[in-house]
Order: sequence, then C-alpha cells, then structure tokens
Amino acid sequence: MPHTFSVRSLKGVGDKRAAQYEKLGIVTVADLLAHYPRGYEDWSSPCTAAQAPVGQPCCIRGFVVTSPTAYRVRQGMTLYRFRVSDGQDTIQATLFNNRFAAAKVRRDEEILLFGTLNRNGRQYEMTSPLIEGAAAGQRIRPLYRQTEGLTSRMIETNMVEALAIASTRPMAEPLPASLRETYDLCDRLCALREIHFPSSKMALEAARRRLVFEELLVLQLGLLQLKSRDRAQSAVVIRGDYTDDFAAGLPFTLTGAQRRAIDACAADLRGDRPMSRLIQGDVGSGKTAVAAAVAHTVIQEGYQAAMMAPTEILAGQHADTLRRLLGDRVRVGLLTGSLPTAQKQALQAAIAAGEVDLVVGTHALLSESVAFSRLGLVITDEQHRFGVGQRARLAAKGRHPHMLVMSATPIPRTLALILYGDLDVSVLDELPPGRQPVETYAVNSAKRERAYGYVRKHLDEGRQGFIVCPLVEESEEPSDLRSAQEVFAALSTGAFRGYRLGLLHGRMKPVEKEQTMAAFAAGKIQLLVSTTVIEVGVDVPNAVIMVVENADRFGLAQLHQLRGRVGRGAHRSTCILISDHTGEENRRRLSVLCATNDGFRIADEDLKLRGPGDFFGDRQHGLPQLRIADLMGDVSLLQQAQACAADLVESPALCTELYAPLREAVARLFDHVGEQGLN
Ligand code: ADP
Ligand code: MG
Repeated sequence: MPHTFSVRSLKGVGDKRAAQYEKLGIVTVADLLAHYPRGYEDWSSPCTAAQAPVGQPCCIRGFVVTSPTAYRVRQGMTLYRFRVSDGQDTIQATLFNNRFAAAKVRRDEEILLFGTLNRNGRQYEMTSPLIEGAAAGQRIRPLYRQTEGLTSRMIETNMVEALAIASTRPMAEPLPASLRETYDLCDRLCALREIHFPSSKMALEAARRRLVFEELLVLQLGLLQLKSRDRAQSAVVIRGDYTDDFAAGLPFTLTGAQRRAIDACAADLRGDRPMSRLIQGDVGSGKTAVAAAVAHTVIQEGYQAAMMAPTEILAGQHADTLRRLLGDRVRVGLLTGSLPTAQKQALQAAIAAGEVDLVVGTHALLSESVAFSRLGLVITDEQHRFGVGQRARLAAKGRHPHMLVMSATPIPRTLALILYGDLDVSVLDELPPGRQPVETYAVNSAKRERAYGYVRKHLDEGRQGFIVCPLVEESEEPSDLRSAQEVFAALSTGAFRGYRLGLLHGRMKPVEKEQTMAAFAAGKIQLLVSTTVIEVGVDVPNAVIMVVENADRFGLAQLHQLRGRVGRGAHRSTCILISDHTGEENRRRLSVLCATNDGFRIADEDLKLRGPGDFFGDRQHGLPQLRIADLMGDVSLLQQAQACAADLVESPALCTELYAPLREAVARLFDHVGEQGLN
C-alpha cells in the first residue's frame, strides 16, 4: 500500500478529523495502521461478579433483571439505573446522561458490561459501564491514544476501514517468508489485523511479537548502517604488543580491569578487521590510560592517532594527561577552535606531514583542512556523545583506522546493545587503588545552612567545591526550585560573601563556559555555582565538596555522574543532596546514592525505579521513537533481532528485490533523524 494514501480517503474523515489525526502524527492510512493500541479492553472472557478482579476493569456477562430507570438528579443531569444478574449475584449499573446507551438495555436480554466493579456492602456496583449485546461483543477491543475530539472509538471505526483497504491491496512486507519462518513470525497483514482487533490473547501476543521484532530489526539495521561498520580488511597493520613497554613508563600500576581492556584492544588491533571497541568505565576508572596504551601501540608501529573530546578544556586536559603518560617519545598536538590561525596552520601542516603522532582536539578535528599522513586510530571521548556521523567523518581521514570509544555513562546492558550495538565492549569495573568513595548524604533544606558551613570549612582549608542547581534562571517552574543565577546572587552576598564564586550554566557562550571552567581548574574560583553542565567533566582533584539543590529533580545516574566531579584527588570528598521531597520513592532513590558509589548498580536501580526514560528521554540523541517495542520488556526479542540484523548485513540477500521493503523501512526510519542527531 502506498505511503501516500491519505486518511482523508476514509469515511467520515474530513478537514476537521484529518487535522485531529495530524495531531497524532497520522497523515496516511499506513500511519493510521501503525497507530497501535495503547491497551485493550478484554471483552473476550466475561466473568461473574464474584470472579471479577478488584479495582481493575473487567467484563461481566449477565441478564438484565430491571430495565433502566431514569432519575433526574439536577438540571442537566440524568442518571439511569438498571440491574443485571450474572446467575449468582446482582450488579447495579449506573449511567450518567447516557440515554443512548440506556436505550440499548432491555429487560431479559443477555448483555456484557465492561467497567470496574465496586462493592458497596453486599451490593455490587458498576458506574458508567460500557455495554454490548452478548453475541456481538465477546472480543478484545483496542484502546487508542486519542486527542481532543477524536476518541478511541472513532479511531477504531476508521481502523476497521483502513484494515479493509490494506487487505485488498498488496502490502509491503519487510520480512520475507523465509525470515518469518526462521523466527516464527506471522505476516504483516495478519499482525496488523490482530494487533488492532485481536481474535485471542495468543493471536495478539503473536502479532505483537512480529511487530516488535520488525521494529527492532529495522532499528538495528539502521544503526548498523549508520555506524557503517567498516567491514574492510584492516589497512592498519599492527603486529607487536607494546603494552609492557607502556606500562613500565607509568607512574602507577595498571588495574586488572585496565589491563584486560588493553589486552582486548591489542587483540583487536592484530585482527584482520579494524577495531571498534567501547571502553565503558565509571568516572575515575582510568579510561584515559587505556586510550594512551592503545595510542602508544599504534604510534609505535608508525601510525598517527587522533582523540576527539567534546569541549576545549577536556581536550586540553586529555592532551596534558597523554603527554604525561606517553612521555617525550610521542609528539602530541592540541587542535581546538580557539587556536590562533597561524598556530593552527602550522599544526595542520605538521599533522599532514606526519610530524605529530597524537592529535587531541575538539570538533575542530573534523574540519576539511585537517588531513593526516597515516591515521591509524580514532579515539572519541563520549562524555557528550558524538554523532555516529562525526565519528565516521574523523575515521574517514584515514584508511579504515581502528576505533576506540570511551564512555563514562554506565548504561545497562540492554540499552548499550542499542546505543552501541555494533561495538565490542570492555568494562572497567575496578577503580584504581586508594580511591575513596564520595561520602554522600541526603538532607532537607533545614540543614542547608549547616551544609554551607561545612563547605566554607573546606574552602578555608584551600579546597574547592560545587553548588549544583537544576535550573538556569527563574522560570515558570514551581518556585521552590532554586535556579543557579538566583543561588549565585544570594550566596555571593550571603553565606559565601568574601569567597571567590563562579557561575556556570548552559546558556552561557561556549567561550565563557570554557573560561569559567578554566578559572575553576586553576583554583581562581573557589566555589562554582552551576547547572548540570559540569557533568561533562574536567578533572579538578582539589574539588572535594558538592551540594546539590533539589536533588529529587535529577535522575540517579545523572546525580552519580555529577558526584564524579569530586573525589578525584587524594582528599576525602563529600556530596550533600538537598531535597524537601518527602515521597517514599525519592527517599529510596537518594538512599541508593548514599549507599553505593558503583555506577552500574546505580544505573540499574535508576532503570528499575524510573524506566528507560532517563536514558532515552531528552538526553536521547535522535534515536527514533519506538512505537511498540519496550526496551526493558523485550530483551530477548531484541537479541533475536540483533542476531538477525547481523546475519542480514553479511548476506547478499539483503540487496535483492525480496528485501527492498525492509531496506525502505530502514531508510524511512531515519528520515527525520539528521546524521548529527543520531548517536
Ligand atoms: P576516567 O576518564 O575514566 O574518569 P581518568 O582516566 O581521568 O578516569 O583517570 C582518573 C585518575 O586516575 C587520573 O588522575 C589517572 O591518572 C588516575 N589513574 C588511572 N589509572 C590509574 C591506576 N591504575 N592507578 C592509579 N591511578 C590511576
Ligand atoms: Mg575521562
């Protein structure tokens, strides 16, 4: 069925209805068919009042024993009451102002009531039940996400017609028969019919399974394609293993986890395909040393390496660290947007001539004017995710270079499978020895002054600290939220008068942000009042105390990330979470943070408590909205879809006519997602 077939071709859909549909993102009949029910009314297995579940909608079958009587309660309000017997008990049903429904109810007829059953003493009651004739109604009915003026029932009516249209036309089938057979999936038309109008619970489950599989498969294929895994033979030939040599030059001993990650990379480098590996490690786990080891190996074999970081200050910090870790043998260059033109040109010339071994930089690395002589390794520090496209653009400056991605976001395995589906993963699950966990306390605002006193004590001892606020400036949000600007103003003249305060928030210009961060790193600012922008963090070992205002407004994983800004040096560090939210769930959430410094445990807890929204919410980087799949619930289907996608990209069949609909579905998926947006 063509994707251009408008909903206007359906009965009863004129300008007004079409506009309502558009609000739901539905323009074509195909869009309508993909408007899957958000739930169902199960009329398929009616029960008796005694069997009915408590507090949940159910369907009851019975005979009408008294026909509806109208009671006029007040102006414009008429009640209709009737009684139904299920053979054992009698249920009193009440309709409000619904003459139309009341008229359908006739004495001695068998009907189905759908609604929530209440018990009032010995009397069963159902208020505003939905009513169907016993013969007609025994089925599972869809409930659709609706919009002003467009009810689920209206959508249902249009859906019947949309399905009828779909049945008379050849429908694109993204999953060919052989594939459906392998994965035991029903065909598309059947799945659509059953998802909207299930003939049984089992058929519904099968339909859902098929549609979820398709959705996840398309997503996986899209991701694989975008990440455009380099299937080429590796052009960067690495033979030796230089890890011991590298380790010998370090001021510390590598942790076991670092060692394992480096070994995995070394094996990748010697393989016949370019490496693409993700190093996932909690804040402070020592990812930079791993990157340095890999860069060292590649450089020893005569290649260049590039490392891209999201901000200038981070790039600068990485350059310093790498110089320290790699020693004088390696020539390190730092390329950022703010470099004066003459220096930039000189550096670019040196890079092109192969006179720089390791180039650290920001997005400036992506510039046309940057060319490498022998780029063998691309490293990205994903504290703020780079677009897959950006990673690929940097890689394109070499001939299939190896790729290393570092991420501090401890995302649960399931989600990692999606976000980094085609990368091999090493986890740094061990912190360097001697690292002290950040002591964390959750308090209410009555303790704020005491917390400030504690902060002053640390500042007086020469340490530094952060005050983190959820908002930038006063807005229409509830007034109990403390914005960074407000807090900054209050503290400068109040609790921290005479101290050197700084303000940092996302609405500042990048240069201003960098300057403020640099001043903080240099110790010129003692106390930094900021929003979550500090999450993308620089290493300021002297920062030992953090106060988070309205801590309940942050996700757990985010709080953990924030907290990682302190506890990076030899001093004991503290994080004080201020929240006046008294809810049980909030208390539990914050207590998780107080109890552990293990980012992965926290991420799992967060996921349990809040669902994947936090990971796939506003910080979500352009991944298409899933219509039916549930990333937490459909893990095993996700794995099957992934296996299938991996097989398909290897198979010549994917390029044949048979798979054209699937390829088109993949292409459509990313229609609205710019390359930059997808990470
Ligand atoms: P991440 O980027 O994973 O947050 P870094 O690479 O910035 O962590 O390392 C954090 C700090 O720990 C740095 O100061 C680094 O020098 C130090 N470090 C890294 N590995 C070790 C180790 N094995 N032993 C001791 N200190 C280490
Ligand atoms: Mg780091």
